[in-house]
Amino acid sequence: MKVPFLDLSIQHKAIREQALAALAATYDATRFCLGRDVEEFEGRFGETLGYPRVLGMNSGTSPLHAACALAGFGPGDEVVVPAFTFISSAWGARYVGAKPVFADIEEGTFNLDPAALEAAVTPRTRGVVVVHLFGQPARMEGLLAVARRHGLFVIEDCAQAAGARWRGTPVGLLGDAGTFSFYPTKNLGGCGEGGAFVSRDEGVFAKARLMRAHGSGRRYYHETLGFNFRMDGFQAAVLNVKLPLLAGWTARRRAIAARYVAGIRLADAVPPVLGTEDGEGVFHQFTLRHPRRDALREHLAARGVGTDLIYPVPLHLQKCFEGSGQKAGDLPVAEKACATCVSLPIFPELTDAQVDEVIAAVNSF
Ligand SMILES: *Cc1c(COP(=O)(O)O)cnc(C)c1O
Repeated sequence: MKVPFLDLSIQHKAIREQALAALAATYDATRFCLGRDVEEFEGRFGETLGYPRVLGMNSGTSPLHAACALAGFGPGDEVVVPAFTFISSAWGARYVGAKPVFADIEEGTFNLDPAALEAAVTPRTRGVVVVHLFGQPARMEGLLAVARRHGLFVIEDCAQAAGARWRGTPVGLLGDAGTFSFYPTKNLGGCGEGGAFVSRDEGVFAKARLMRAHGSGRRYYHETLGFNFRMDGFQAAVLNVKLPLLAGWTARRRAIAARYVAGIRLADAVPPVLGTEDGEGVFHQFTLRHPRRDALREHLAARGVGTDLIYPVPLHLQKCFEGSGQKAGDLPVAEKACATCVSLPIFPELTDAQVDEVIAAVNSF
């Protein structure tokens, strides 16, 4: 039995008729940039997941860029970013001329370590990007305490965490700004590029709204620096079809994760945490650690089980950040995660038989 790492075609086949009808309606109404589908999406996303204010954007990188711009970060400023995440978490700071300073993660959750945040703060630090990696909420209590003590602007990168909550509050509402990606492989993904911006702060939200569309509230009058970060109608139309299904998909991801944790019996393998006492994760990924990760991946591939390596290189060692002053050995937990992690298949359409096949393949290593 083959088990692909990810097969998005199953989900898209299942909703094909509804999605094509929604796309056709948008096409026929010529609603291409923002407009009614996007407004409907913003309302539904907010209602479904608990956000009072939502802005649809054109990717998950754009709201990070907007957040760094509206926070006023710029040259001479430092923004702390975990070293173990997707590159976009650091781009926003870099785009506005600030310096991303990479900090280490915790062993258990792969998320930014509050003690590492504290250690990374200097008199130039203005903000922090907290990532809820793999859908697991970061330890917000410790992180927010450090941020408050130093007056930092807190951006939550929720690209992998739509539906996750921390002590009952949806991620993205705990800090000053929250960002989402609807790239097709995310746990809520469109049929192309998409993203969203949320904030509990009305002032922050109003600034992001202006920035999304050329700094303009009234056509051809431009109040602030702006970008073109508009969501397009087709993406909103598809996401409106998918949103009612997200809760069921999340429940299935959690069930698969629990089945993996219960079934995997491989010496030296460290499974991800299933949840912290405060955080309800959504299992965007299920990432195992093993000291012989490469051999394990080969073994699984030979048995027809697809895996992925998320992420092979920590951000402080990426070529694009060469010269930043941080070097190998500086962030040992993130470096070890990159050297030992392997992500197993976890998507809602996996059958129990496939999950059991993955477990058997892992245990036979
Ligand atoms: C996917 C992702 C992003 C960026 O999303 P795009 O939509 O590809 O721009 C940002 N941060 C994290 C952690 C991601 O996984």
